[in-house]
Amino acid sequence: MSRGGPLRLRFVTSATTRTTLPPTGGEIAIVGRSNVGKSSLLNALANQKGLAHVSKTPGRTQLINLFESAEGGAVIDLPGYGYAAAPGRVRATWPAMIEGYLTEREELRMVLVLVDGEIGPTKLDLQMLAWLDSHGVSRTIVATKHDKVASSKRPKRKAELAEGCGVAPGDVAWTSASKNVGIDHLRGLIRGWLADVAPPKP
Ligand code: GDP
Repeated sequence: MSRGGPLRLRFVTSATTRTTLPPTGGEIAIVGRSNVGKSSLLNALANQKGLAHVSKTPGRTQLINLFESAEGGAVIDLPGYGYAAAPGRVRATWPAMIEGYLTEREELRMVLVLVDGEIGPTKLDLQMLAWLDSHGVSRTIVATKHDKVASSKRPKRKAELAEGCGVAPGDVAWTSASKNVGIDHLRGLIRGWLADVAPPKP
């Protein structure tokens, strides 16, 4: 039985390649362009303000950061893939190690692709989604900053964002880390994907 409440996450390690990550039994990875709200979301999921700070410390921003869940499995924070205005493709701005992780890490069960709810999918976001699909990597779209969309505009924005990403509106998990919207729902999804993973040994 999975319980509710915040995910109990603990930073374990940063790695440059999937091969030096410890075994976890099952992992959910989070990706998104810089500033999409990835750190805020991770902190909200765990209800720990400084948790994702570790991913932003010098030397770690370009690494694969592993947070172990006390319930079993892990959440992986991957480097942000550049600003929307940056030229070039995701491939060019993303080190090969991240691609190696996404395509070859056996424990990887789901990739959460964060899309800024206020501005919708950027070109880079769409390239990321297409790249994951072309490699057969399971992914779920998570829209961030729900609170930044005026309530009167939400139905339209939700339809537009989903359409822009090529999915049904119900397939987008909308969240606000600031206003605690959709956080419990996303925790439940993550728990479901990791439900059969045994907790770490004490
Ligand atoms: P990261 O670069 O993807 O890790 O993004 P951060 O978590 O650092 O957030 C980038 C900016 O967006 C910061 O100024 C956050 O305060 C802001 N932000 C993140 N999540 C939310 C949210 O849910 N609502 C609002 N209004 N702002 C947010």
